[in-house]
Formats: sequence, structure tokens, C-alpha cells
Amino acid sequence: MSLYTLEPRSRTFRARLLRWYGRHGRDLPWRRTREPYRILVSEVMLQQTPVGRVLPAFASFLRRFPTAGALARASLGDVLIAWGTLGYPRRARDLHRSAQIARGRIPTAVGALDALPGVGAYTAGAVACFSTGAAVAFADTNVRRVLGRVMLGRTATEREATEIDSAVMPARDAARWHHALMDLGATVCTSRPHCDVCPVFGACASKGVDTAPAPRRQAAFATSDRRVRGAIMREIRSSPRSIAWLSRTIGDRRVPRLAETLIQDALIVSDGPVLRLPT
Ligand code: SF4
Repeated sequence: MSLYTLEPRSRTFRARLLRWYGRHGRDLPWRRTREPYRILVSEVMLQQTPVGRVLPAFASFLRRFPTAGALARASLGDVLIAWGTLGYPRRARDLHRSAQIARGRIPTAVGALDALPGVGAYTAGAVACFSTGAAVAFADTNVRRVLGRVMLGRTATEREATEIDSAVMPARDAARWHHALMDLGATVCTSRPHCDVCPVFGACASKGVDTAPAPRRQAAFATSDRRVRGAIMREIRSSPRSIAWLSRTIGDRRVPRLAETLIQDALIVSDGPVLRLPT
């Protein structure tokens, strides 16, 4: 038995967190389904995009591709158009490939999910847990922050948080448990925590003092490359374009180099001098 399971703090933490979630939990559309395809779409979208931007994108993507079968049958170009301006379009490409590899039936077992492109340990665990209710441990940034601060006094690594999670999560209704952890991390135990309104304050080892080093910011040039790649994708989604036209319109000398990276990522194809979406 893990040390965490033996801690009386674990029981208090669990009970208070779940009670708080009953009153303050967020009602999100992907929490109203157990369909693994819909949950996978939401998790992939949420990987790098805040909830507020994902909500309309999730609804419109599912209107266009209501099932994994519909997604698998679509062309990648159509999927990229439906992805719209959500950013990080490799996610759309991987989702499309996943639907094709899974032949339109997204699995619910962690191992099978983990083997899909773009699906890591966190996403595989989340989809397995949310679609079956099984007690599968996993940890995203919010879960690492909450479990780490409460049990260790600092933000945990993914490995530490997963270990704590598997020891303290309730045997039943693990989906509700994880939703509660995520909501506390997103709204109360944020990077600058609101300990004064925290329901688990009494059980927390950190109480606002997090000794873990602050996460490193992404280098500025990477952020700005992403902006130019996004601008190229935006133009090509509306119509095939030449590199010369894109360079002129976007007005950035990195366009040829970054267009090449988009070709390498199979997000656009080159048709002679013209770049277009894949079919
Ligand atoms: S008491 Fe503060 S640090 Fe601890 S879980 Fe609550 S908000 Fe986070």
C-alpha cells in the first residue's frame, strides 16, 4: 500500500474536493458523454487551447464529423478546414490518422489509445477513464499542480502525480474525481493559487508556497514561428497559393522556410509552384 493511501490527509482531501466539485464543478459538453471519440476530440483540442476557445470549436467540429467513421472517411484537407483557427494543426492531422487507424472505432483501453498518433500517456488515461469510468491514473498540468501541492508541498512531476493519483483516487467514479482535480487546478489552485477560497486548504501541504521551479516559457522565436505557420495555414485553407504570393501577403521572410516545415508535417502539399491542402 502506498504511503499516500495511509495518510489521513488523503481522506480529508478526497471528501472536501468531491463536495466542492458538487457545487462548483464546470458543466462542459464533453463531460456529458462517454463516447470515446468525442472525449478524444475534446482532449486533443484541450492539449494546447483554453476551454473558452475549445467550446465553439468542439461543437462545430462534431457537427462536421459526428463520428470517428465520418472523420476517417474525410480528406485531411477537409479536416484541416474544420479545425479552423484552433492552432497546432498537427493535432487535427493526428486525430484524422487515429480515426483511420482505429477504423472509425476509437478504443477505450489505455494501451490501444497510447498507440494512436499524438496520444500520450495523459490523453490515453483521460479517454480511458472518462469513457469507461475505470480508475485509471493520469496527470495533466492542473492535476500535477493540485496533487503535488496538497501531498508534496510543490507541483509534482507527471510521474509523481500519477503515482499519487493512483493511491488517492476513489475506487468508484474516477471520472468525477479527475474532473474535480482539473477544475480545482483551473479555477482555484492556479499558478498563483487562491488559497483563501480553497476547499482543501486544511489538507494541503503547500498552502500557497510552491517550491517547484516555475515552468519555462517557450522561446519567443518558437511562438513567432508558430504565428507565421498559422498565417500560412489560414491563407491556404481559403485557397491554394504560391510561395511568392504568401511571402508578399504575410510580409515575413520566414514564409518559404516555414512553408517547407508545413510540407514536411504533411499539413500542406506542393503542386509545382502552388501550395494547397492535402486531399
Ligand atoms: S491551499 Fe492553496 S496551494 Fe493548496 S491546493 Fe488549495 S489553492 Fe492550491
